[in-house]
Amino acid sequence: MKKSVVAIVGRPNVGKSTIFNRLVGERISIVEDTPGVTRDRIYSEAEWLHTTFNLIDTGGIDISDEPLIVQVREQAQIAIDEADVIVFLVNGREGITAADEEVAKILYKSNKPVVLGVNKIDNFEMQDLLYEFYALGFGQPYTISGSHGLGLGDLLDEVIKHFPDQSDVYDDDDRIRFSLIGRPNVGKSSLVNALLGEERVIVSDIAGTTKDAVDTEFKKEDRDFTIIDTAGMRKRGKVYETTEKYSVLRALKAIERSDVVLVIIDADTGIIEQDKKIAGYAHEAGKAIVIVVNKWDAVDKDQDTMKEFEDDVRQQFQFLSYAPIIFLSAKTKKRMHTLLPMIVEVSENHAKRVRTNLLNEVIEDALAMNPTPSIKGQKLKILYTTQVAAKPPTFVVFVNDPELMHFTYERFLENRIRDAFGFVGTPIKIYARVRK
Ligand code: GDP
Ligand code: GDP
Repeated sequence: MKKSVVAIVGRPNVGKSTIFNRLVGERISIVEDTPGVTRDRIYSEAEWLHTTFNLIDTGGIDISDEPLIVQVREQAQIAIDEADVIVFLVNGREGITAADEEVAKILYKSNKPVVLGVNKIDNFEMQDLLYEFYALGFGQPYTISGSHGLGLGDLLDEVIKHFPDQSDVYDDDDRIRFSLIGRPNVGKSSLVNALLGEERVIVSDIAGTTKDAVDTEFKKEDRDFTIIDTAGMRKRGKVYETTEKYSVLRALKAIERSDVVLVIIDADTGIIEQDKKIAGYAHEAGKAIVIVVNKWDAVDKDQDTMKEFEDDVRQQFQFLSYAPIIFLSAKTKKRMHTLLPMIVEVSENHAKRVRTNLLNEVIEDALAMNPTPSIKGQKLKILYTTQVAAKPPTFVVFVNDPELMHFTYERFLENRIRDAFGFVGTPIKIYARVRK
Protein backbone atom coordinates (compact mmCIF):
# COMPACT_ATOMS: atom_id res chain seq x y z
CA MET A 1 0.00 0.00 0.00
CA LYS A 2 1.22 3.43 -0.88
CA LYS A 3 1.74 5.56 2.21
CA SER A 4 0.28 9.03 2.19
CA VAL A 5 2.63 11.95 2.53
CA VAL A 6 2.03 14.87 4.86
CA ALA A 7 4.13 18.04 4.67
CA ILE A 8 4.43 20.70 7.36
CA VAL A 9 4.85 24.23 6.02
CA GLY A 10 5.04 27.64 7.59
CA ARG A 11 7.46 30.48 8.05
CA PRO A 12 10.54 29.98 10.26
CA ASN A 13 10.09 29.56 14.02
CA VAL A 14 6.42 28.66 14.08
CA GLY A 15 7.38 25.22 15.42
CA LYS A 16 7.60 22.95 12.37
CA SER A 17 10.58 20.95 13.57
CA THR A 18 9.15 20.68 17.05
CA ILE A 19 5.94 19.16 15.68
CA PHE A 20 7.85 16.97 13.24
CA ASN A 21 10.01 15.51 15.98
CA ARG A 22 7.05 14.92 18.21
CA LEU A 23 5.05 13.12 15.54
CA VAL A 24 7.98 11.08 14.38
CA GLY A 25 8.81 10.33 18.00
CA GLU A 26 11.40 7.80 18.79
CA ARG A 27 11.64 6.44 15.27
CA ILE A 28 14.19 9.05 14.48
CA SER A 29 16.55 8.11 17.25
CA ILE A 30 16.83 4.50 16.16
CA VAL A 31 20.44 4.29 15.18
CA GLU A 32 21.57 1.33 13.16
CA ASP A 33 24.99 0.57 11.91
CA THR A 34 24.29 1.53 8.33
CA PRO A 35 25.38 4.70 6.60
CA GLY A 36 22.03 6.16 5.64
CA VAL A 37 20.51 6.12 9.05
CA THR A 38 21.64 9.45 10.32
CA ARG A 39 19.42 10.79 7.60
CA ASP A 40 18.77 14.40 7.27
CA ARG A 41 15.86 14.79 9.54
CA ILE A 42 13.26 16.04 7.17
CA TYR A 43 11.50 12.92 6.01
CA SER A 44 10.27 10.17 8.24
CA GLU A 45 7.55 7.72 8.97
CA ALA A 46 4.91 8.65 11.53
CA GLU A 47 1.83 6.87 12.83
CA TRP A 48 -1.59 7.86 14.06
CA LEU A 49 -4.42 5.49 14.92
CA HIS A 50 -2.73 2.60 13.12
CA THR A 51 -2.26 4.62 9.99
CA THR A 52 1.33 5.08 8.99
CA PHE A 53 2.26 7.93 6.73
CA ASN A 54 5.36 9.83 5.73
CA LEU A 55 6.02 13.23 7.11
CA ILE A 56 8.11 16.01 5.61
CA ASP A 57 9.42 19.03 7.48
CA THR A 58 9.80 21.47 4.61
CA GLY A 59 11.60 23.85 6.96
CA GLY A 60 14.49 21.42 6.99
CA ILE A 61 15.20 22.14 3.34
CA ASP A 62 17.52 25.00 3.79
CA ILE A 63 17.55 27.58 1.05
CA SER A 64 18.91 30.16 3.40
CA ASP A 65 20.78 32.19 0.82
CA GLU A 66 17.43 33.37 -0.39
CA PRO A 67 15.32 36.11 1.19
CA LEU A 68 12.72 34.92 3.70
CA ILE A 69 9.83 35.41 1.34
CA VAL A 70 11.48 33.29 -1.36
CA GLN A 71 12.24 30.59 1.20
CA VAL A 72 8.69 30.27 2.43
CA ARG A 73 7.38 30.29 -1.13
CA GLU A 74 9.74 27.54 -2.19
CA GLN A 75 8.95 25.45 0.86
CA ALA A 76 5.23 25.79 0.24
CA GLN A 77 5.85 24.69 -3.34
CA ILE A 78 7.72 21.61 -2.13
CA ALA A 79 4.73 20.72 0.01
CA ILE A 80 2.40 21.09 -2.94
CA ASP A 81 4.65 18.98 -5.16
CA GLU A 82 5.33 16.24 -2.66
CA ALA A 83 2.45 15.90 -0.24
CA ASP A 84 -1.07 14.49 -0.23
CA VAL A 85 -2.08 16.66 2.72
CA ILE A 86 -0.46 19.88 3.90
CA VAL A 87 -0.30 21.06 7.49
CA PHE A 88 0.03 24.83 7.42
CA LEU A 89 1.50 25.96 10.70
CA VAL A 90 1.28 29.45 12.17
CA ASN A 91 2.29 30.98 15.49
CA GLY A 92 -0.89 31.64 17.48
CA ARG A 93 0.79 34.18 19.67
CA GLU A 94 1.92 36.42 16.88
CA GLY A 95 -1.20 36.63 14.77
CA ILE A 96 -1.16 36.56 10.97
CA THR A 97 2.04 37.94 9.48
CA ALA A 98 2.94 38.91 5.93
CA ALA A 99 4.95 35.72 5.54
CA ASP A 100 1.92 33.64 6.63
CA GLU A 101 -0.14 35.38 3.97
CA GLU A 102 2.54 34.61 1.41
CA VAL A 103 2.38 30.91 2.25
CA ALA A 104 -1.41 31.02 2.17
CA LYS A 105 -1.45 32.56 -1.29
CA ILE A 106 0.62 29.73 -2.71
CA LEU A 107 -1.47 27.09 -0.99
CA TYR A 108 -4.71 28.57 -2.36
CA LYS A 109 -3.51 27.84 -5.85
CA SER A 110 -3.03 24.12 -5.20
CA ASN A 111 -5.75 21.52 -5.02
CA LYS A 112 -4.14 19.86 -2.07
CA PRO A 113 -6.06 19.67 1.20
CA VAL A 114 -4.68 22.06 3.81
CA VAL A 115 -5.15 21.72 7.57
CA LEU A 116 -4.33 24.84 9.51
CA GLY A 117 -2.46 24.38 12.81
CA VAL A 118 -2.24 27.29 15.22
CA ASN A 119 0.79 26.48 17.34
CA LYS A 120 2.15 27.68 20.68
CA ILE A 121 -1.26 27.65 22.32
CA ASP A 122 0.16 26.16 25.47
CA ASN A 123 -2.86 26.53 27.72
CA PHE A 124 -6.60 26.89 27.70
CA GLU A 125 -6.57 30.62 28.38
CA MET A 126 -4.92 31.19 25.02
CA GLN A 127 -7.64 29.39 23.04
CA ASP A 128 -9.31 32.63 21.96
CA LEU A 129 -6.27 33.54 19.88
CA LEU A 130 -7.57 31.01 17.40
CA TYR A 131 -10.34 33.12 15.90
CA GLU A 132 -8.34 35.54 13.85
CA PHE A 133 -6.86 32.67 11.86
CA TYR A 134 -10.19 31.89 10.21
CA ALA A 135 -9.26 34.87 8.05
CA LEU A 136 -6.60 32.79 6.31
CA GLY A 137 -9.41 30.95 4.57
CA PHE A 138 -8.57 27.34 5.34
CA GLY A 139 -11.64 26.60 7.41
CA GLN A 140 -11.38 25.59 11.02
CA PRO A 141 -7.97 26.21 12.58
CA TYR A 142 -6.69 23.61 15.07
CA THR A 143 -4.97 24.91 18.17
CA ILE A 144 -1.94 22.95 19.21
CA SER A 145 1.11 23.13 21.37
CA GLY A 146 4.10 21.44 19.85
CA SER A 147 6.20 21.74 22.93
CA HIS A 148 3.48 20.38 25.23
CA GLY A 149 1.99 17.91 22.77
CA LEU A 150 -1.51 19.36 23.05
CA GLY A 151 -4.16 19.22 20.35
CA LEU A 152 -2.15 17.06 17.98
CA GLY A 153 -4.72 14.28 18.04
CA ASP A 154 -7.52 16.46 16.69
CA LEU A 155 -5.24 17.90 14.06
CA LEU A 156 -4.15 14.44 12.92
CA ASP A 157 -7.74 13.18 12.84
CA GLU A 158 -8.44 15.93 10.37
CA VAL A 159 -5.27 15.23 8.37
CA ILE A 160 -6.08 11.54 8.03
CA LYS A 161 -9.60 12.30 6.79
CA HIS A 162 -8.03 13.84 3.70
CA PHE A 163 -5.80 10.92 2.78
CA PRO A 164 -6.46 9.77 -0.76
CA ASP A 165 -8.72 6.78 -1.15
CA GLN A 166 -6.44 3.76 -1.14
CA SER A 167 -8.97 1.33 -2.55
CA ASP A 168 -7.96 1.93 -6.15
CA VAL A 169 -4.28 1.93 -5.36
CA TYR A 170 -2.24 -0.99 -6.58
CA ASP A 171 -0.91 -3.50 -4.23
CA ASP A 172 -0.68 -7.12 -5.12
CA ASP A 173 -0.74 -6.82 -8.89
CA ASP A 174 2.11 -8.26 -10.92
CA ARG A 175 3.54 -4.96 -12.02
CA ILE A 176 7.15 -4.47 -10.93
CA ARG A 177 7.97 -0.98 -9.73
CA PHE A 178 11.59 0.00 -9.61
CA SER A 179 13.68 3.09 -9.17
CA LEU A 180 17.24 4.05 -9.98
CA ILE A 181 19.09 5.85 -7.28
CA GLY A 182 22.57 7.26 -7.25
CA ARG A 183 24.36 10.55 -7.15
CA PRO A 184 24.23 12.91 -10.13
CA ASN A 185 26.01 11.76 -13.30
CA VAL A 186 26.26 8.05 -12.51
CA GLY A 187 24.12 7.46 -15.58
CA LYS A 188 20.54 7.07 -14.28
CA SER A 189 18.89 8.80 -17.22
CA SER A 190 21.14 7.01 -19.68
CA LEU A 191 20.19 3.68 -18.12
CA VAL A 192 16.51 4.49 -18.33
CA ASN A 193 16.88 5.43 -21.99
CA ALA A 194 18.88 2.29 -22.68
CA LEU A 195 16.23 0.14 -20.98
CA LEU A 196 13.39 1.75 -22.88
CA GLY A 197 15.35 1.53 -26.11
CA GLU A 198 15.79 -2.21 -25.78
CA GLU A 199 14.18 -4.51 -28.27
CA ARG A 200 10.56 -5.46 -27.61
CA VAL A 201 10.07 -2.89 -24.90
CA ILE A 202 6.69 -1.26 -25.30
CA VAL A 203 6.36 2.05 -23.53
CA SER A 204 2.76 2.87 -22.78
CA ASP A 205 1.14 5.96 -24.21
CA ILE A 206 -0.11 7.20 -20.91
CA ALA A 207 3.01 7.50 -18.87
CA GLY A 208 2.02 6.88 -15.31
CA THR A 209 -1.17 7.95 -13.67
CA THR A 210 -2.09 11.59 -13.36
CA LYS A 211 -0.85 11.59 -9.82
CA ASP A 212 2.56 10.22 -10.59
CA ALA A 213 2.82 11.69 -14.03
CA VAL A 214 6.55 11.38 -14.24
CA ASP A 215 6.65 7.62 -13.79
CA THR A 216 7.19 5.56 -16.91
CA GLU A 217 5.25 2.40 -17.64
CA PHE A 218 6.39 -0.26 -20.06
CA LYS A 219 5.91 -3.85 -20.94
CA LYS A 220 8.38 -6.50 -21.95
CA GLU A 221 7.66 -10.16 -22.59
CA ASP A 222 4.23 -9.77 -21.05
CA ARG A 223 5.51 -8.30 -17.82
CA ASP A 224 4.53 -4.84 -16.70
CA PHE A 225 7.09 -2.49 -15.25
CA THR A 226 7.02 1.02 -13.87
CA ILE A 227 10.10 3.14 -13.50
CA ILE A 228 9.53 5.39 -10.53
CA ASP A 229 10.74 8.91 -11.07
CA THR A 230 13.72 9.96 -9.00
CA ALA A 231 15.64 13.14 -8.34
CA GLY A 232 17.97 13.97 -11.12
CA MET A 233 15.76 12.44 -13.74
CA ARG A 234 13.67 15.53 -14.19
CA LYS A 235 14.68 18.85 -15.55
CA ARG A 236 15.60 21.17 -12.76
CA GLY A 237 13.75 24.42 -12.66
CA LYS A 238 13.02 25.49 -9.15
CA VAL A 239 15.57 26.76 -6.69
CA TYR A 240 15.03 23.97 -4.17
CA GLU A 241 15.54 21.23 -6.72
CA THR A 242 19.27 21.74 -6.59
CA THR A 243 19.54 21.36 -2.81
CA GLU A 244 20.96 18.13 -1.50
CA LYS A 245 18.23 17.57 1.06
CA TYR A 246 15.58 17.84 -1.58
CA SER A 247 17.31 15.25 -3.72
CA VAL A 248 17.54 12.96 -0.68
CA LEU A 249 13.85 13.48 -0.08
CA ARG A 250 13.01 12.64 -3.69
CA ALA A 251 15.17 9.53 -3.48
CA LEU A 252 13.49 8.41 -0.26
CA LYS A 253 10.06 8.93 -1.78
CA ALA A 254 11.02 7.00 -4.89
CA ILE A 255 12.46 4.15 -2.82
CA GLU A 256 9.29 4.05 -0.75
CA ARG A 257 7.16 3.48 -3.83
CA SER A 258 9.43 0.84 -5.36
CA ASP A 259 9.61 -2.92 -5.09
CA VAL A 260 13.13 -2.98 -6.45
CA VAL A 261 15.80 -0.34 -6.09
CA LEU A 262 18.75 -0.18 -8.46
CA VAL A 263 21.72 1.33 -6.68
CA ILE A 264 23.80 2.83 -9.45
CA ILE A 265 27.56 3.18 -9.15
CA ASP A 266 29.86 4.86 -11.63
CA ALA A 267 32.71 2.47 -12.48
CA ASP A 268 34.67 5.32 -13.93
CA THR A 269 34.87 7.41 -10.77
CA GLY A 270 34.61 4.54 -8.28
CA ILE A 271 32.67 4.41 -5.02
CA ILE A 272 32.42 7.49 -2.85
CA GLU A 273 30.85 8.16 0.53
CA GLN A 274 27.67 9.56 -0.98
CA ASP A 275 27.04 6.26 -2.81
CA LYS A 276 27.06 4.43 0.49
CA LYS A 277 24.67 6.87 2.06
CA ILE A 278 22.22 6.50 -0.79
CA ALA A 279 22.51 2.71 -0.72
CA GLY A 280 21.89 2.86 3.03
CA TYR A 281 18.48 4.43 2.41
CA ALA A 282 17.49 1.59 0.09
CA HIS A 283 18.64 -1.03 2.56
CA GLU A 284 16.73 0.53 5.45
CA ALA A 285 13.56 0.60 3.43
CA GLY A 286 13.58 -3.19 3.08
CA LYS A 287 13.36 -3.21 -0.70
CA ALA A 288 14.85 -5.65 -3.17
CA ILE A 289 18.17 -4.29 -4.37
CA VAL A 290 20.44 -4.72 -7.38
CA ILE A 291 23.82 -3.00 -7.41
CA VAL A 292 24.46 -1.75 -10.92
CA VAL A 293 28.00 -0.80 -11.85
CA ASN A 294 27.54 1.45 -14.88
CA LYS A 295 30.12 2.86 -17.34
CA TRP A 296 32.01 -0.41 -17.35
CA ASP A 297 33.09 0.51 -20.89
CA ALA A 298 35.13 3.41 -19.53
CA VAL A 299 37.36 1.25 -17.34
CA ASP A 300 40.72 -0.13 -18.44
CA LYS A 301 40.36 -3.82 -17.80
CA ASP A 302 42.35 -6.96 -17.50
CA GLN A 303 41.13 -10.37 -16.34
CA ASP A 304 41.14 -9.41 -12.67
CA THR A 305 39.47 -6.02 -12.88
CA MET A 306 35.90 -7.18 -12.44
CA LYS A 307 36.75 -9.40 -9.50
CA GLU A 308 38.67 -6.57 -7.85
CA PHE A 309 35.87 -4.11 -8.37
CA GLU A 310 33.38 -6.60 -7.04
CA ASP A 311 35.48 -7.18 -3.93
CA ASP A 312 35.62 -3.45 -3.41
CA VAL A 313 31.83 -3.14 -3.71
CA ARG A 314 31.35 -6.01 -1.25
CA GLN A 315 33.80 -4.42 1.14
CA GLN A 316 32.16 -0.99 0.99
CA PHE A 317 28.56 -2.16 0.96
CA GLN A 318 28.71 -4.88 3.56
CA PHE A 319 25.14 -4.23 4.59
CA LEU A 320 24.04 -5.17 1.05
CA SER A 321 25.59 -8.63 1.05
CA TYR A 322 22.34 -10.07 -0.37
CA ALA A 323 22.31 -7.76 -3.40
CA PRO A 324 23.56 -9.06 -6.74
CA ILE A 325 26.04 -6.89 -8.63
CA ILE A 326 25.92 -6.37 -12.36
CA PHE A 327 28.46 -4.62 -14.53
CA LEU A 328 27.18 -2.96 -17.66
CA SER A 329 27.28 0.05 -19.88
CA ALA A 330 24.35 2.25 -20.74
CA LYS A 331 26.50 3.74 -23.47
CA THR A 332 27.62 0.64 -25.38
CA LYS A 333 24.59 -1.39 -24.15
CA LYS A 334 26.91 -4.19 -23.14
CA ARG A 335 25.06 -6.53 -20.73
CA MET A 336 22.07 -4.17 -20.64
CA HIS A 337 19.92 -7.20 -21.49
CA THR A 338 20.79 -8.79 -18.13
CA LEU A 339 19.23 -5.97 -16.16
CA LEU A 340 15.49 -6.60 -16.57
CA PRO A 341 15.74 -10.35 -15.88
CA MET A 342 17.66 -9.50 -12.72
CA ILE A 343 15.00 -7.02 -11.67
CA VAL A 344 12.34 -9.70 -12.18
CA GLU A 345 14.31 -12.27 -10.19
CA VAL A 346 14.94 -10.11 -7.12
CA SER A 347 11.38 -8.83 -7.20
CA GLU A 348 10.05 -12.39 -7.13
CA ASN A 349 12.33 -13.20 -4.22
CA HIS A 350 11.14 -10.09 -2.41
CA ALA A 351 7.52 -11.19 -2.77
CA LYS A 352 8.17 -14.87 -2.10
CA ARG A 353 6.30 -16.84 0.54
CA VAL A 354 7.60 -20.19 1.69
CA ARG A 355 5.50 -22.98 3.08
CA THR A 356 5.58 -23.40 6.82
CA ASN A 357 6.32 -27.13 6.75
CA LEU A 358 9.27 -26.70 4.38
CA LEU A 359 10.53 -23.80 6.45
CA ASN A 360 10.45 -25.87 9.63
CA GLU A 361 12.28 -28.73 7.94
CA VAL A 362 15.02 -26.30 7.02
CA ILE A 363 15.16 -24.98 10.58
CA GLU A 364 15.27 -28.49 12.02
CA ASP A 365 18.17 -29.37 9.75
CA ALA A 366 19.89 -26.19 10.82
CA LEU A 367 19.40 -27.09 14.49
CA ALA A 368 20.88 -30.52 13.90
CA MET A 369 23.87 -28.98 12.20
CA ASN A 370 24.49 -26.23 14.71
CA PRO A 371 22.71 -26.68 18.06
CA THR A 372 21.22 -23.61 19.70
CA PRO A 373 23.45 -21.68 22.09
CA SER A 374 23.07 -21.37 25.83
CA ILE A 375 23.43 -18.14 27.72
CA LYS A 376 24.13 -18.40 31.48
CA GLY A 377 23.08 -22.01 31.52
CA GLN A 378 19.81 -21.30 29.73
CA LYS A 379 19.43 -23.02 26.40
CA LEU A 380 17.58 -21.44 23.49
CA LYS A 381 14.72 -23.62 22.30
CA ILE A 382 13.17 -23.10 18.93
CA LEU A 383 9.60 -24.34 18.76
CA TYR A 384 8.60 -23.40 15.27
CA THR A 385 9.04 -20.79 12.60
CA THR A 386 6.62 -19.13 10.27
CA GLN A 387 6.73 -16.50 7.55
CA VAL A 388 4.44 -13.67 8.58
CA ALA A 389 4.93 -11.28 5.68
CA ALA A 390 6.51 -10.75 2.28
CA LYS A 391 8.08 -7.66 0.70
CA PRO A 392 10.46 -8.19 2.39
CA PRO A 393 10.12 -11.79 3.60
CA THR A 394 9.65 -11.64 7.36
CA PHE A 395 9.91 -14.62 9.67
CA VAL A 396 8.92 -15.14 13.26
CA VAL A 397 10.80 -17.78 15.22
CA PHE A 398 8.90 -18.88 18.31
CA VAL A 399 11.31 -19.59 21.14
CA ASN A 400 11.36 -20.23 24.87
CA ASP A 401 13.08 -16.88 25.54
CA PRO A 402 13.90 -14.25 22.87
CA GLU A 403 16.78 -12.95 25.01
CA LEU A 404 18.61 -16.20 24.27
CA MET A 405 18.58 -15.57 20.52
CA HIS A 406 22.06 -14.24 19.94
CA PHE A 407 22.48 -12.26 16.73
CA THR A 408 25.15 -14.66 15.47
CA TYR A 409 22.66 -17.50 15.74
CA GLU A 410 20.02 -15.42 14.06
CA ARG A 411 22.50 -14.71 11.26
CA PHE A 412 23.15 -18.45 10.99
CA LEU A 413 19.42 -19.13 10.63
CA GLU A 414 19.12 -16.39 8.05
CA ASN A 415 21.88 -17.97 6.00
CA ARG A 416 20.23 -21.39 6.18
CA ILE A 417 16.94 -19.90 5.04
CA ARG A 418 18.69 -18.08 2.22
CA ASP A 419 20.51 -21.23 1.11
CA ALA A 420 17.34 -23.24 1.12
CA PHE A 421 14.95 -20.82 -0.56
CA GLY A 422 17.14 -18.50 -2.61
CA PHE A 423 16.39 -15.01 -1.46
CA VAL A 424 18.93 -13.31 -3.69
CA GLY A 425 18.46 -9.56 -3.82
CA THR A 426 16.08 -9.18 -0.93
CA PRO A 427 16.67 -8.41 2.72
CA ILE A 428 14.92 -10.83 5.05
CA LYS A 429 13.81 -10.11 8.58
CA ILE A 430 13.76 -12.51 11.48
CA TYR A 431 12.09 -11.86 14.80
CA ALA A 432 12.24 -14.08 17.87
CA ARG A 433 9.00 -14.23 19.86
CA VAL A 434 8.23 -16.03 23.05
CA ARG A 435 5.99 -19.10 23.02
CA LYS A 436 5.99 -21.22 26.15
P1 GDP B 1 10.52 25.91 12.84
O1 GDP B 1 11.53 26.92 12.44
O2 GDP B 1 9.16 26.24 12.29
O3 GDP B 1 10.92 24.49 12.57
O4 GDP B 1 10.35 26.06 14.42
P2 GDP B 1 11.00 25.23 15.63
O5 GDP B 1 10.32 23.91 15.76
O6 GDP B 1 12.46 25.26 15.49
O7 GDP B 1 10.52 26.11 16.85
C1 GDP B 1 10.87 27.46 17.00
C2 GDP B 1 10.83 27.83 18.46
O8 GDP B 1 9.48 27.78 18.96
C3 GDP B 1 11.63 26.92 19.35
O9 GDP B 1 12.27 27.68 20.30
C4 GDP B 1 10.58 26.02 19.99
O10 GDP B 1 10.98 25.55 21.23
C5 GDP B 1 9.40 26.95 20.10
N1 GDP B 1 8.12 26.24 20.10
C6 GDP B 1 7.73 25.27 19.24
N2 GDP B 1 6.48 24.85 19.54
C7 GDP B 1 6.09 25.55 20.62
C8 GDP B 1 4.89 25.57 21.43
O11 GDP B 1 3.94 24.83 21.20
N3 GDP B 1 4.86 26.44 22.44
C9 GDP B 1 5.88 27.28 22.73
N4 GDP B 1 5.76 28.08 23.75
N5 GDP B 1 7.01 27.29 22.01
C10 GDP B 1 7.13 26.45 20.98
P1 GDP C 1 22.36 10.93 -14.22
O1 GDP C 1 22.69 12.29 -13.71
O2 GDP C 1 22.64 9.87 -13.18
O3 GDP C 1 21.00 10.77 -14.83
O4 GDP C 1 23.45 10.62 -15.39
P2 GDP C 1 23.32 10.76 -16.97
O5 GDP C 1 22.54 9.61 -17.54
O6 GDP C 1 22.90 12.13 -17.31
O7 GDP C 1 24.83 10.51 -17.39
C1 GDP C 1 25.88 11.35 -16.96
C2 GDP C 1 27.04 11.29 -17.94
O8 GDP C 1 27.59 9.98 -17.98
C3 GDP C 1 26.62 11.61 -19.38
O9 GDP C 1 27.63 12.38 -19.97
C4 GDP C 1 26.52 10.25 -20.02
O10 GDP C 1 26.75 10.29 -21.42
C5 GDP C 1 27.59 9.48 -19.31
N1 GDP C 1 27.30 8.03 -19.29
C6 GDP C 1 26.14 7.44 -18.89
N2 GDP C 1 26.24 6.10 -18.98
C7 GDP C 1 27.49 5.83 -19.46
C8 GDP C 1 28.20 4.63 -19.77
O11 GDP C 1 27.70 3.50 -19.65
N3 GDP C 1 29.49 4.77 -20.20
C9 GDP C 1 30.08 5.98 -20.36
N4 GDP C 1 31.32 6.01 -20.78
N5 GDP C 1 29.44 7.13 -20.08
C10 GDP C 1 28.16 7.07 -19.64
